[in-house]
Amino acid sequence: PACTARPRVVLLCSPCMGHLIPFAELARRLVSDHGLAATLLFASATSPPSEQYLAVAAALPDAVDLVALPPPPPDLLPSSAPERARVELAVASNLPRVRELARELAADAPLAALVVDMVGVPARGVAAEMGVPFYMFFTSPWMTLSLFLHLPGIDAARAGEHRDATEPIRLPGCVPIHAHELPASMLADRSSDTYAGFLSMAKAVKGVDGILVNTSRDIEPAVGEGLGGLELPVHPVGPLVWTRPVGVDRDHDCMRWLDRQPRRSVVYVSFGSGGTLTWQQTAELARGLELGQCRFIWAVKRPHQSSTIGAFFGTQKGEDISLDFLPEGFIERTRGMGFVTQSWTPQTAILGHPSVGCFVTHCGWNSILESVTNGVPMIAWPLYAEQNMNAAMLEVQVGVAVRAKVGVDRFTSKEELVSAIQRVIVGKEAERMRKRASELKDKVVHALSKDGCSTRTLAQIAKSWKCINRK
Ligand code: UDP
Repeated sequence: PACTARPRVVLLCSPCMGHLIPFAELARRLVSDHGLAATLLFASATSPPSEQYLAVAAALPDAVDLVALPPPPPDLLPSSAPERARVELAVASNLPRVRELARELAADAPLAALVVDMVGVPARGVAAEMGVPFYMFFTSPWMTLSLFLHLPGIDAARAGEHRDATEPIRLPGCVPIHAHELPASMLADRSSDTYAGFLSMAKAVKGVDGILVNTSRDIEPAVGEGLGGLELPVHPVGPLVWTRPVGVDRDHDCMRWLDRQPRRSVVYVSFGSGGTLTWQQTAELARGLELGQCRFIWAVKRPHQSSTIGAFFGTQKGEDISLDFLPEGFIERTRGMGFVTQSWTPQTAILGHPSVGCFVTHCGWNSILESVTNGVPMIAWPLYAEQNMNAAMLEVQVGVAVRAKVGVDRFTSKEELVSAIQRVIVGKEAERMRKRASELKDKVVHALSKDGCSTRTLAQIAKSWKCINRK
């Protein structure tokens, strides 16, 4: 009998919240708007799954099948191994399981495509075996993707270390990237494993059939341009930000608190799913919020121990709930003005609340897209990965953020924080930025509407996947 089941897209996501959230949204749209079925495989890094994972899982519609793949045995890597190695291992150790699942799923309905993130590119063989298109969904900006795609060329042309380069890297249509803004893996010695891994990942990207990028031309007009002879279809389908069932977020106390605050008065401070500061920097940020006498919601994380690294990505332990790292009396003195929480916040709902006027962000791409989608101007406080590049783009090109100035050891003083908040909330510059943020919001909301360009782009791809399948 003819198979009447919807063709199914299999998506494979590495253990990063910043990837899972846009993957979940992509899967949701493929199912609800484009006539496909979707199974989203999440390569877990921990068992049991984190609080964040459970929050995303609870918000996904039933139509998207979310499967948590088991974490690799804990002793395979030394405890000193970098976060990236853990993430890669979580995916690599699950490839046999992904292959098996793809076969099982194909027995019930035709497979339409395999979609992976950057870490999932080694799953290419599974797509080839199943005879389906192999796509990457890039969850960072086009500018970062462009840097990756150009990296082999830049690597071949440059003699010294990237960190010593005096000339910025100029990618077509992007802001110049200065040495200190490069991702850490590119700043590492070029003879190191870290750099070699990064370069080989960049080279491997070219082996996919197409790339979906979580951006839009309204934010990055040059998306897809300037790849020279490289024939690689690049499709902007964003900004795909997390949408959750209406009402779920109202449960969080901070939403009721926001309801009582004046319009655009609240500064929301959050460094993403895992960004942490040093002890000194965390205390200084608290002093800045106090000094600025502003209303704020602070999704605070326990500082990391290192006194040398100014920024860090790590997983918080659920039991660390004491706020002993904040200046003495801070909570009492800011009571009523501020809302401090250590739990996972409903970030998209917070940014969509009319009382929020400014977002102090680490410049994770999802956070930026969520702020843009809600028309909220930002203070860019980049920590790791490609965030310095994102911050430069936001301030210089997009015009919806100011960068917090950093001093020695990448330390940002309380006075600097107060001044950045002032620049974003009051005065002419703030007005300009608000206007720009509001225009941009209208554009990106339109891009994702039924007839918007991002929706149409995704529709075309979904159609091509379905056609291939019928051959
Ligand atoms: N997020 C959230 N609540 C939190 C912290 C983070 O909902 O308390 C969400 C946020 O809305 C975003 C994602 O987690 O969608 C973080 O992704 P981003 O790319 O900004 O940063 P990353 O965590 O990957 O560094």
